[in-house]
Amino acid sequence: MSEQKKVEKIVGVKGMNDILPADAPLWELFENTVQSVLKSYGFQQIRTPIVEPTALFARGLGEVTDIVEKEMYSFTDSMNGDNLTLRPENTAGVVRAALEHNLTYDGPKRLWYVGPMFRHERPQRGRYRQFHQVGAEAVGFSGPDIDAELIMMCQRLWDDLGLSDIRLELNSIGNAEERNKHRADLIAYFEQHKDLLDTDAQRRLHANPLRILDTKNPAMQEMVNAAPKLLDYLGEESRAHFEGVQKILRHNNIPFTINPRLVRGMDYYNRTVFEWVTDQLGSQGTVCGGGRYDPLIEMFGGKPTPACGFAMGVERLLELMKASGEQYAPNQCDVYLVHQGEDAQLQSFVLAERLRTAGLDVVLHCASSNGGGSFKAQMKRADASGAAFAVIIGEDELKGGTATVKHMREGNAEEGRANQNSLPFDGVVDYIVEQIVGDHDHDHDHVHYHP
Ligand code: ATP
Ligand code: MG
Repeated sequence: MSEQKKVEKIVGVKGMNDILPADAPLWELFENTVQSVLKSYGFQQIRTPIVEPTALFARGLGEVTDIVEKEMYSFTDSMNGDNLTLRPENTAGVVRAALEHNLTYDGPKRLWYVGPMFRHERPQRGRYRQFHQVGAEAVGFSGPDIDAELIMMCQRLWDDLGLSDIRLELNSIGNAEERNKHRADLIAYFEQHKDLLDTDAQRRLHANPLRILDTKNPAMQEMVNAAPKLLDYLGEESRAHFEGVQKILRHNNIPFTINPRLVRGMDYYNRTVFEWVTDQLGSQGTVCGGGRYDPLIEMFGGKPTPACGFAMGVERLLELMKASGEQYAPNQCDVYLVHQGEDAQLQSFVLAERLRTAGLDVVLHCASSNGGGSFKAQMKRADASGAAFAVIIGEDELKGGTATVKHMREGNAEEGRANQNSLPFDGVVDYIVEQIVGDHDHDHDHVHYHP
C-alpha cells in the first residue's frame, strides 16, 4: 500500500473460538472415534440446518427454559421478515426433519449428528457461545432397552477415548400426570421456604417448579435436597421402565448413581434422564446429558412417537482428553520434498505425485513471501514438518537421474541404516514405502496418538 493508512483488525465474536491446526488432530481423533462407535451400534448420521424457525425451539424446548428465555441467537431475516434462530441444540431440528421426511414410516430410526450450537451465555471455561455437540436420537423406540443402549454407547465412547473419570447419574421424571401430582407438593414445599428462593426460582415457582431442583445456587442446595422427590410419585409403568433400564446397566457392569434432583434443562423430557459428569472440569462438569422425550413429536404435530437421545459437549470432552495426559503428536507429512533449480522443481512435482499415489503424505516445498528458498532453509522446514524423510533433488541429482533420500527421525543409526541414500529417481517411491512399512512392523507408527 502506498498510502500508509492504518487498517483496524477485525477480531472474532466473543465466546466463539477458532479451532487452529494445532488442535485439529485431536478433533479428528475425537470425531473419528465417535463416528466408528456410533456406527458400531447402527446409528446413521443426519445433518440438519444451523438456522431453524424460532418457533421450533420456543415450542420444542418450552418457553420457561434458560435457553429460550435468554440464550438464543434470534433474528429477523431482513429480506422476508422470517423469525429465525441459530440452533442452540439439535434435538428439535432432528425431530423436525424426521417428521418432515417421514423417516420413521418403515420403523424406528437410530440417528446421530455432530456440529456447532449457539447459546448467548457468559463465556468461561467449558462454556462458549459457539460450541459443538455430538448427539444421538433414537426415534420410535419405546422400551427401556434403547435407553440402556444409548448409555452403554456413551460408556464405550469414553473407553475408546481413554477417558476413565466420567460417572453416570440417572433419574426418572415419570410422565406428565405423575409430575403434576409431584408438582403440587413441590410448590407447597417451596412456598414454605419462600425466603430461601432466589429471583429465578421465585419466577419459576408456578411456571416450572421442577426446574428449581436444577438450581446451581449454593444457598439453595440444602433446601432443594430435602424437597419432595419425583421418584416417590412414579406409577407402575414408569417405575417398571426405570427398573428395566437399571437392570440392563447392572447386567453389563455400567456403574451409576440415582440422583433424584436430576431433571435436565428441557421441558420435553419424560421418564429416563441421565447425565455423565466429571469432577475434572470445575463447575462445567457435565459432559453429556440425555433422556427420553416421548411427548415431543406429538407437540410438533406428528403421530405419538416415543424417542430417546443424548447430547455431549465436544469442547468439554476434548479438554478432558488433554487433561488425561493424552497428547497428539501430529506430523504434517511423511515426506518433505526439497529442490534447487527450475528443472529440479519440475521433477519434484512428478515425484511428489508418485509418492502420493503410493499413499504417502507429501509436502512439496513452495515459494513463500518470506524467503526460505535456500537449501538450508528448506531443510529446516523439512525438519519442522516432522516428516520421516526429506527427499532432495538438486543440480547433481538432476544430472545423475537420482534423488537423495534423508532419514529425518532419530533411532535410525542404531538400527544400522544409512542416514542418507542416493537412489535412482525411479527407485525412490519403493524405497520409502518399504522403509515406512518396516517402521510400522517395528511399531514405530509414523502418525499416532501417544498416551
Ligand atoms: P449446563 O447446565 O452446563 O448449562 P445444559 O443443561 O444447558 O448444560 P445441554 O443443553 O444438555 O446442557 O447440552 C448438552 C451438553 O452440551 C452439556 O452437557 C455440555 O457438555 C454441552 N454444553 C452445553 N452448553 C454449552 C456451552 N455453552 N459451551 C460448551 N458446551 C456446552
Ligand atoms: Mg445451559
